[in-house]
Amino acid sequence: MHDHHLLGSCGAFLRSVASHWHDGGRLHNDAARAHELWQTSMLSALLEGVYEGEVTYEELARHGDFGLGTFNDLDGEMIAVDGRFFQLRSDGTAHRVDPAQKTPFAVMTFFRPEVERRIERTLPRTALFALLDELAPSHNLFYAIRVEGCFSSVLTRTVRRQEKPYRPLTEVTAEQATFQFNSVSGTIAGFRSPDYMQGISAAGYHLHFITSDRSGGGHVLDLEIEDATLTLDHTSGLHVEVPETAAFLAAGLNKPGHAEAIKKAEG
Ligand SMILES: [Zn+2]
Repeated sequence: MHDHHLLGSCGAFLRSVASHWHDGGRLHNDAARAHELWQTSMLSALLEGVYEGEVTYEELARHGDFGLGTFNDLDGEMIAVDGRFFQLRSDGTAHRVDPAQKTPFAVMTFFRPEVERRIERTLPRTALFALLDELAPSHNLFYAIRVEGCFSSVLTRTVRRQEKPYRPLTEVTAEQATFQFNSVSGTIAGFRSPDYMQGISAAGYHLHFITSDRSGGGHVLDLEIEDATLTLDHTSGLHVEVPETAAFLAAGLNKPGHAEAIKKAEG
């Protein structure tokens, strides 16, 4: 397993990535569990302010080595790559996650890329999504997406830790902290979910970013690729476990306007 912490320039970073693809060591060898998504709670519960879950990161790690989510009290954005979990806080810092921390929402998979594409030109977000539509034409399946390399820019947001009584997600994201990274190397991890999943997932793209020195990142709002490798893993399997907390049991999870609210909060 390579470590990117000491690599400063994008050139050095990409050479490291190139050898990384051939080591195979991070691939999960349990074929039965591979390619399935495992999710705790659902996005409409977050919309309703259900920011406390019972699932620990120790448990989450049993369900995947790649994914995204958040933390209890909505304390920042989570990204998991190569089995390592990071907490991206609203003050711009990144931390390794303690296994005892808990999450109210997360999506995980054992990432086994089936498609790899080198991108050696400037590619804005819309062009990346067009390329993904080419590589993954059916919008009725789930895709795990990883983009690793050099970005001319990445715009991220990070939600702020909340106190009880919790407010709905759209109110919280209205005051989110945003960060603009320029000429940065790093990793994007996330998913494309079918439109029919809106409410359980965020329909469409949901991507998180972390810098290669693991010092910062967040939920991706915009990006432009400079030189990167794109890998994809498709799945038709999704396992959802909903919490049995009082807040979840009482939440209205199928309200009109949720689809619009998710686009606003997660777009
Ligand atoms: Zn997110």
